[in-house]
Amino acid sequence: MKRQTTAFVLACTFLLSSCSNMNTATSDSESNQILKSQELEQSKITQKQTQKKGEELPTLTEESPKDITPEVNKEPKIELNYHMNSNYDIIPNNESISKKVVLLTFDDGPKDADMINGLIDILDKHQAKAIFFVNGYKVKENPHLLKLIHDREQIIGNHSWDHVVLKNKSEAEVKQQVKDVQEIVADITGEKPVYFRAPHGAGGDVTKKVTKDNGMLYMTWSIGSLDWEMKSTDSNPAATIIKNVTEQLHSGSNILMHELPWTVQSLDKLLTELETRGYTFVDPRSIELQMR
Ligand SMILES: [Zn+2]
Repeated sequence: MKRQTTAFVLACTFLLSSCSNMNTATSDSESNQILKSQELEQSKITQKQTQKKGEELPTLTEESPKDITPEVNKEPKIELNYHMNSNYDIIPNNESISKKVVLLTFDDGPKDADMINGLIDILDKHQAKAIFFVNGYKVKENPHLLKLIHDREQIIGNHSWDHVVLKNKSEAEVKQQVKDVQEIVADITGEKPVYFRAPHGAGGDVTKKVTKDNGMLYMTWSIGSLDWEMKSTDSNPAATIIKNVTEQLHSGSNILMHELPWTVQSLDKLLTELETRGYTFVDPRSIELQMR
């Protein structure tokens, strides 16, 4: 027995030393192969973990793990069923498409993760997509918040770098204000915005031209929720916002809201009210980028 144990220990020592010899003798290409196989193993582990998560969900069938493999290019194609008119309203391209839609937009962020998550939780609950029109200087302060909006599959729009009145600026300044936001958003999300909203609704002809040259849809809005005039002391913010929106509500309304605490508080009630009145929320990606 003792001899057997000694033999075993010796064999192990031999094996270990030959392993370490092998390692020192490993060429670069072999190391690469080892690294690759590690990556492969890691991805198998990750896949297994994902599957395990899926298996824990009670409603999934036995075949579900197959469906959980990462989806590549499986996003449903969004048809361009709408366009924007010169009042910045959303108009269906033909009579078979519902005209009772509204476009939801939130300007002047990104500021705060809780507010962004609060807004997107409610948008998700109502299966709605909105445009978050961001300012470059805020994105620079909070790149992770821009990523949050993108990762939660909402749409990002360009609202200029500095939130200035662009109609008073030179063409070179306007170009810079637009371009810098396009670049910082692309750096963080990999995608350049295709929607532009002029700060204070005042872009002027130069901004319209510059954004068009960049392949973007220029807009202001057709309904102001007036949430920017409200204060935290407002006793019933939802009632105020609902009143402000419904007083002007019409088919294709392009609704301006902001990343503000009382807007987060009111959004669920507002969206429910709009649904009760027969409106649905237009997917911004279904709007043509050419105004007509
Ligand atoms: Zn703004």
